[in-house]
Amino acid sequence: MKKITIAIDGFSSCGKSTMAKQLARRIGYTYIDSGAMYRAVTLYCLRNGIIGADGSIDTVRLRGEMDGIDITFRTDSATGRPHTFLCGEDVEGEIRQMQVSEHVSPVSALPFVREALVRQQQRFGADKGVVMDGRDIGTTVFPDAELKVFVTADARTRARRRYDELRAKGVEADFDEILRNVEERDRIDQTREVSPLRRADDAVVLDNSQMSLEEQDKWLLDHYEKAVAKTYGRAD
Ligand code: C5P
Repeated sequence: MKKITIAIDGFSSCGKSTMAKQLARRIGYTYIDSGAMYRAVTLYCLRNGIIGADGSIDTVRLRGEMDGIDITFRTDSATGRPHTFLCGEDVEGEIRQMQVSEHVSPVSALPFVREALVRQQQRFGADKGVVMDGRDIGTTVFPDAELKVFVTADARTRARRRYDELRAKGVEADFDEILRNVEERDRIDQTREVSPLRRADDAVVLDNSQMSLEEQDKWLLDHYEKAVAKTYGRAD
């Protein structure tokens, strides 16, 4: 099969991972959630006292320990979903919690953290056939990706989706706190010095505020087929 690389970037909680996972399953590609990698590093910092009570980060310690922070993905045999492992431990549930969301953007803004994770992401995608979602996939990780999508939706819609997702998992959630977190992460992600969140010049924009999941999946599949045809002459 003729494979391409698919980069899906965009704002926090706009359903990137849902659509990326669905497309990967449909076309038999590997799905990589780059945000889960930044979340796993953040969880490591929280567990090991690298992030202080005041939110400050001990960057000297983190830099020294970065090489030992082993992050892998494995498919859960019961659900068929990818789970994130930190040093061999399944942390898929823990990395989605509010405490991690609150600290992940400052950790992600550190240049040495980005360098280490971008290198690993590029290794994951070296043979193409990947759908990767994040903030800098089309701009930094895979600037030559054949299909780049930039996803957006209004902030309240995104916060509502995150709220519903947490509640569905039985996690206590406060809508206003989630809205504040979504907006604050967008602000930090867009204004950081290294690889800020921005649309790649050659990315197609998807505003899914008013779209159903089915419409969104069809939109993405159409763009995938067009990108394959453009790259190889026809979709196969
Ligand atoms: O995608 P998700 O919301 O789980 O990502 C968590 C955080 O990780 C983002 O808010 C952002 O700060 C950071 N991130 C990043 N670069 C990526 C993916 C995520 O900086 N490629």
